[in-house]
Amino acid sequence: MPYVTDRSRDLFARSLHVLIEGVSSPSRGPANYGAYPLFMERGEGPYIYDADGNRYVDWMMCYGLEPLGHAHPRIVQAVSEAVATGPHFAAATEIEVEVAELIQQMVPSAERVRFANTGTEATMAAIRLARGYTGKPKFIKFEGHYHGWYDDFLVSVHPTEPGRLGHRNDPIKLVESSGLNRQALDDTIVVPWNDLQAVERAIDTYRGQIAAVITEPVMANMGIIPPEPGYLQGLRDLTRDNGILLIFDEVTTNLHVPSGTCQKYYGIKPDISTLGKALGNGLPVAALVGRADIMEALAWGGVLHYGAQNASRIGLYATRAGLQELNRNGGEALHHAERIAQRLTAGLRELFAERGIKAIVQNVGAMLQIFFTEQPAIRDYRDFCANVNQAKFKEFARALFKYGVYLSPSPVLHSIATAAHTDEHVNVTLDAMRQALRDIKQ
Ligand code: PMP
Repeated sequence: MPYVTDRSRDLFARSLHVLIEGVSSPSRGPANYGAYPLFMERGEGPYIYDADGNRYVDWMMCYGLEPLGHAHPRIVQAVSEAVATGPHFAAATEIEVEVAELIQQMVPSAERVRFANTGTEATMAAIRLARGYTGKPKFIKFEGHYHGWYDDFLVSVHPTEPGRLGHRNDPIKLVESSGLNRQALDDTIVVPWNDLQAVERAIDTYRGQIAAVITEPVMANMGIIPPEPGYLQGLRDLTRDNGILLIFDEVTTNLHVPSGTCQKYYGIKPDISTLGKALGNGLPVAALVGRADIMEALAWGGVLHYGAQNASRIGLYATRAGLQELNRNGGEALHHAERIAQRLTAGLRELFAERGIKAIVQNVGAMLQIFFTEQPAIRDYRDFCANVNQAKFKEFARALFKYGVYLSPSPVLHSIATAAHTDEHVNVTLDAMRQALRDIKQ
C-alpha cells in the first residue's frame, strides 16, 4: 500500500480556520513537521495510528508521558474507575495521600509533596518557593535547559548561531519570547552547564543574592546530554557550601531511568525537585517535592501556590496505577526500557559506522538522541549550537514516517523507550532507519 497522508493534509487545512498552525503547542506544528503535521488518532502499546490509518512504532511517546505505552489496560481501568466515581472534588482525598506516599518511596528527597498539573506550574512554584524560603531574589539557570514557559525561565533555551552566545564566562541572555514582563529576566543568571567553574564564578559575582540553582539532571531538551562524572555532586557541594538551594527539574527524566529519578540514579539529594510528564501516564499530573522545612513555606499565608485542578482523582488514579505497574518486580519495566534504549543506541551506532555516516548517539536510561555531528560527544548547549546539524536530523526523522517509525523531528528533543517496546520494535526501527538514511542526501 502506498504511504499517503491526505487526511492529515486536509485536517491541517481545516484547522487553520480555528487553530494557530493547526496545533495547541507550536512544537507540534510546521516548525518541526514541515508542510503539515501528522494528525494522530489512536494509540496502543508502542504504536500510534494517524488519521489515514498509517501505523507507526512510536518513540516519541507524547514526549515521554506514557512509560507503559499507549492505552495500557491498567491505566484505562484506573481512569475509568475515577471518572465513574467523580473525576475531581477539589477537596482533600485519600488518593492524594496514597500517591504522595508512593512518590516518597521513589524520590529520596521528597519529604513533602505538593501536586500541580503541568511541569511549568511545578517549576514556577519551585522558584517562588526558593525565593520565598531564602528571601533572596536571583537564581542560576543553565544554557539550553528548559523549565517550562514561565517568563523567568525564557532565556537561552533554543539553539542558535554560536556567534550570538557571547563569551562562556559572561553568556549573553538570549530572550526566547516577546511579551515577557520587562523585569522578568533581571534575576535570572545564565551559565553554561557541565562546568563547575562557571557556577563558582556566578556565585562569587552575585554572593548573597542567589536563592537557587535549577538544573535538569540530564540535559534532555538539547537532545540527551549526560552530566560529566562528578558534576552533579559538585553542584550539590557548591550550593550547600554557599547556602543556595539545589533544584532538580526531573519533569522530563522521571520514570525514564531505572529507580525512577535521576537523583536516585546518580545518588544526589537536591533540596527541591519537580516531577511531571510520565508521572500522570498521559494525564496532567506534576509535583513539587522537597525538604520538609522548605516545603512548609507553602502553608497558608506563606508562599502562594494554588490550583483548582491540582490533584484531580482522575490524574492520581492514573499515577497510582502507573507507579504500581512500574514498581512491580523490583522496577523491571524501567530496566526493560533502559535495555531497549541501549539496544537501539548500539544498533544505530553500528549502522552509522557501517555506512560511514558522521553521527553519534547519546543515551541515558530509556532516553536517547541522535546527533549528526563530526564530534565524538556533545557536552553542552554551546557544543550543540556549534556542532550539530539540526536540519539533517529533521530530514531524517521525517523520512522515517513512511517506513512506519515515529520520532519527534525536533533535534532538541529525544526518543524514549517504554515498557511496551520490544526487541522486535528495535529491529523494525533499525531497518526503517537504514532505508531512511538511503533516502536523505549524505
Ligand atoms: N521542565 C522540563 C525539564 C521539561 O522538559 C518540560 C517540558 N518539556 C517542562 C519543565 C515543562 O513541562 P510542561 O510542558 O508539562 O509544562
